[in-house]
Amino acid sequence: MDALQTRASGLWRALAKRYPHAHCALDWTKPHELLIATILSAQATDVSVNKATPALFAAFATVRAFSQADEAQIEPYVKTINFWRMKSKAVIESMRMIERDFGGEVPRTMKQLVKLRGVARKTANVVLGNAFALNEGVVVDTHVMRLAQRFGLTKHTEPLTIESDLMKLCVRRRWCQLSHLLIAHGRAVCKARGNTCASDAICQKYCCEGTKTGVKKAAKARPRVTSLPQPKSTQAPPAARLDRRQPTATAPRPSRRKG
Ligand code: SF4
Repeated sequence: MDALQTRASGLWRALAKRYPHAHCALDWTKPHELLIATILSAQATDVSVNKATPALFAAFATVRAFSQADEAQIEPYVKTINFWRMKSKAVIESMRMIERDFGGEVPRTMKQLVKLRGVARKTANVVLGNAFALNEGVVVDTHVMRLAQRFGLTKHTEPLTIESDLMKLCVRRRWCQLSHLLIAHGRAVCKARGNTCASDAICQKYCCEGTKTGVKKAAKARPRVTSLPQPKSTQAPPAARLDRRQPTATAPRPSRRKG
């Protein structure tokens, strides 16, 4: 285990301890509902999606019900969400394809999922990891991208390359939970604006971006944050793993939505 892997292992433990209940923030009870919620959440907040989906899922309870509807019928339910026209079309067409080509069941492979309209790798990772406990990759959203960079887990800026770096640093069964942990810290502490660098213990120990964000000022009163070693190569085999001693934190988590 090299220095970066050791550091990543420590970061995992710290985040898992801080956010033991980190999980997908979208409300859902059935796999197709998670798929739809994730499609709707692109460039929109989870909060806005969670406000809209209870009525939508009550009106269209099954994949078949969605597949037999048309965009105009679901648009009233999603009009409060960004890009609702385009997303309505994606929801209907993806449900029709699931009904027609997959027997009404949400497919469980990356290859099949990305054939659906409105579904790219990130959405497929959300569905596979959360609905089926299948860790095919790491969900890289804006929080994960920002935190992975600031914690020195990647030096890249492209989501696919960042995902590859994170997959090499984390044991496969934790890929889904890794993104939940980074997102939890992103929402609680390391916000895109107005983060709380100066007062957070995890940040003080692991962030290597302090000089850009405010840690530098706070660092006058504490030991200097050192730079992280970088991965030797993005092509390296995924021999490195975050701490194997930790219990699996990820399990398919049922929605907290009632009814
Ligand atoms: S120190 Fe600041 S920039 Fe770094 S992870 Fe924490 S909140 Fe984010």
